[in-house]
Amino acid sequence: MSFDFSQRVLDIDSKAQEMTAPLFQRIDDISAENTKKVLAAFQRHRVSDTFFAGTTGYGYNDRGRQALDNICADIFGARSGLMRVGLISGTHAITCALFGALSPGQTLLYATGTPYDTLLSVIGVTGNYHGSMKQYGIDYAEVPVTETGLADLKAIKSAAAFEKVGVVAIQRSRGYSARASLTAGEIGEICDTIRSVNAHAAIFVDNCYGEFVELLEPGDVGADLIAGSLIKNPGGGLAPAGGYIAGRADLVENAAMRMTAPGLGSEAGATLGSNRYLYQGLFTAPHTVAQAMKTAVFCAACMDIMGYSAYPAWDTVRPDIIQRIEFGEPDSLIKFCRGIQRGGPVDSFVTPEPSDMPGYESQIIMAVGGFVQGASIELSADGPMREPYAAYMQGGLTFESGRLGILSAVREMLEGG
Ligand SMILES: *Cc1c(COP(=O)(O)O)cnc(C)c1O
Repeated sequence: MSFDFSQRVLDIDSKAQEMTAPLFQRIDDISAENTKKVLAAFQRHRVSDTFFAGTTGYGYNDRGRQALDNICADIFGARSGLMRVGLISGTHAITCALFGALSPGQTLLYATGTPYDTLLSVIGVTGNYHGSMKQYGIDYAEVPVTETGLADLKAIKSAAAFEKVGVVAIQRSRGYSARASLTAGEIGEICDTIRSVNAHAAIFVDNCYGEFVELLEPGDVGADLIAGSLIKNPGGGLAPAGGYIAGRADLVENAAMRMTAPGLGSEAGATLGSNRYLYQGLFTAPHTVAQAMKTAVFCAACMDIMGYSAYPAWDTVRPDIIQRIEFGEPDSLIKFCRGIQRGGPVDSFVTPEPSDMPGYESQIIMAVGGFVQGASIELSADGPMREPYAAYMQGGLTFESGRLGILSAVREMLEGG
């Protein structure tokens, strides 16, 4: 399919470009600051090309891996870090972090409503899998968000006060829910609230999609433990797989015991030639995140022009790279995702269909035309096939290609069969 768009699509394009151009300076400024932060961390840890060779077997004495762990800690405002392909995804990183911080008999408290879908089977809310937290005798509770989708500080204060609460978890991004994503400032406020009533619980932040969107990271505002995915923001589109954990030294080492094996911890794990991709991806990540932010702003403007409700609105400050669009009915959701797929660089000839996904409760439609399977720092869109039929669009390695992908979606919605 070509990019010879009809006049109708081009009119939406030029109007959206005109609306959004003034917002791009702020995005570039944040990228400039975060690039400085990453570059300084690389220099502080004396990154050298000998780090990129990697190890095999047990992976002992992998200097590249060790330095990357330390760089990860610096960037997320933490004492210790793990940035590893051995953490296979964000879900795995979060699982290791939470299991490392909790003991049987303790309670995991989610302070920001129901967590991301794939964590429900980890906790034991859904499914009854061997090795879930529930099976290990770890209890679960959550504080719902308020009617307007905000963190309920008063309710968090009373729920977090119990002695048995071992971890209070905060999810920075909204996931598949309608609540607002949290700014670093708001995360700081929640951390302070928790600390005012509970001195011992570890404060955990699921940082997925929030990395490098602002100047501060959760470790800068009071979080004890942080985790996320390398096929999202901090992988910069180059990491072939992986996840990261950062935080207090004891909590990160406990998580490493879960990642490898009790006794092995963070000292092992062959990198098999992946180091350079992780370094290079992290190095470009602040810029790549800026590209994704511009694509999201542009998408919101196009959808707004077409009369759909886009959240966040195109002209508001964003805490993450996710754009939610509510279609209200399945047909437009499907067309939007098909248009994104057709506008991408890989598998543009594929037609997405709603289907069941492991770890997810509803059928999901997904547009994933990326170089790394499932990478959502690359232009992608997905949505659960349930009311109110909302799509979650994110990514775009370059704004130039992101814009073409969005215009392809606009065309599919206006002119698709
Ligand atoms: C994507 C995501 C996860 C899971 O990360 P994967 O790499 O897909 O396993 C967890 N929490 C949130 C908020 C996410 O957006």
